[in-house]
Amino acid sequence: MSTIITGRNLIAGLWLESDALFDSRSPSRPDEVIGTFPASSLEEADAAVAAARRAYPAWRRTSRVLRAELFDRLAQLVKRHTDDLACLMARECGKVLAECRAEVIEGLHMIQYVFGTGRHPSGEVLASEIAEKDAFVRRKPWGVAAVITPWNFPFAVPLWMLGPSLVEGNTVVFKPSEETPAVGQRIVELMVEAGFPVGVVNLVHGDGNIGERLVRNSDVNVILFTGSWDVGSHIQQVSATMVDRIVAAEMGSKSAVIVCKDARLDLAVNAAVISAFKTSGQRCVSAGRVLVHESLLDTFCEKLIAVTKRLVIGEPLDPASFTGPVINQHAVDKVLSYNALARQEGATVLLDGGRREGHYLTPFVYRIEAKSGIRCAREEVFGPHLAVIPFRTNEEAAAIYNDTPYGLSLGVITEDYRAMRFFREECEFGMGYVNLPCIGAEVHLPFGGVKRSGNGHPSAAGLVEAVTHKVSWTINHGEDIRMAQGLTTGIEP
Ligand code: NAD
Repeated sequence: MSTIITGRNLIAGLWLESDALFDSRSPSRPDEVIGTFPASSLEEADAAVAAARRAYPAWRRTSRVLRAELFDRLAQLVKRHTDDLACLMARECGKVLAECRAEVIEGLHMIQYVFGTGRHPSGEVLASEIAEKDAFVRRKPWGVAAVITPWNFPFAVPLWMLGPSLVEGNTVVFKPSEETPAVGQRIVELMVEAGFPVGVVNLVHGDGNIGERLVRNSDVNVILFTGSWDVGSHIQQVSATMVDRIVAAEMGSKSAVIVCKDARLDLAVNAAVISAFKTSGQRCVSAGRVLVHESLLDTFCEKLIAVTKRLVIGEPLDPASFTGPVINQHAVDKVLSYNALARQEGATVLLDGGRREGHYLTPFVYRIEAKSGIRCAREEVFGPHLAVIPFRTNEEAAAIYNDTPYGLSLGVITEDYRAMRFFREECEFGMGYVNLPCIGAEVHLPFGGVKRSGNGHPSAAGLVEAVTHKVSWTINHGEDIRMAQGLTTGIEP
């Protein structure tokens, strides 16, 4: 039995307890308490923002190279703690150990990437109309960033956002998901150990009310949010009325794998199974749909069900498990309600494994014709729920793919380079995969989507745009004033 973790907020360098507490529980054994964490008050959220604001001037003035060096120290610590971080994550969010390990490594890659950017250019030199003028573009930090994150990638996603914000000179208030506060707190503990100065990183635990308080605080310049469309769009609306407020929001999806008529069938089946059921369908990029050319439909479905039935759905810490439970009772209820909705909307159910105690759900697979207005094949379910949808032409497949409010990830299974290009050009997505599952990320590649999936500030490289603003800086080396567009000074000599 592991010790129960005592959670604390980190505000202005002090680890503080709170009057009210909440439990973090294991999704596979809901009776197991991982730790108790501050159900922070609104005043504590405000205090964290004030601490970040106080720390900002000194941090902004610290050399970018030295800010980045702290990430090198953090990388060493993460390497040392990879196994215990993965284990804690598996217990707290229910993902299987191998995936948790991979996530820690993804977080490590982001830390290493950010360390590298410390010595990259932080601006450009441009030409001017006037030969004697030097024109520079310089990126500057915005100030205080609030990092608000989901439970399903509790290590890598916070680091995607903390890394670029901090290296560019912003200070941060981090609010991890209330479902995974222990992993969130561990990140901050390691950052303190790595030497991030007092107030530069602050941690405040709590639910959506605390997130909302950070969003409504006009002293927060940047909101870096990853989570659902409902919350993200609300944050965007609140922020739209605020001065000097930038929002980068990465949100949900209804991703799909398209299986073309020339697809290698076994590869297509494996790609669909991995896309739909890894992490129990709880990745932002998880495929809720597989679009299959009608000529392959029967054989594809037969093989898909055979492979799916063999998946081991079990304890996150058991190396034999392919996937674990869903996160909580609310997730169980949501998936079951979408399973029922699919039946009402005319689905032919191919597999319904049901549920087991401890938030375990087995895959629900059904065939359904694409028709306008059906919700089960258009809305994000975020669980092991897969629609198989037949198509006749590539044009029809692209139209079905695009018929959701989301646009995050696309897998195409084909040997035909023309078909590949057609889908790349015609489908709305942020990440495309050919002859691969539609899940998986590497930190130096764009990660994000269009429509309700995000507003386009993905990955470390992309986030630099959100966490900084550009200023121009023009220097005249001539002995008198010459202006652009042929404008004269209008002052007689
Ligand atoms: P969620 O939207 O319920 O919560 C995300 C975070 O927002 C949590 O920390 C929560 O406390 C906070 N929050 C809730 N209400 C708030 C409010 N009013 N103001 C400010 N903050 C508030 O999402 P979740 O259930 O934790 O995660 C699952 C969702 O995240 C899915 O939709 C998934 O697709 C998405 N996701 C997207 C990406 C991506 O990169 N596009 C990555 C991972 C997860």
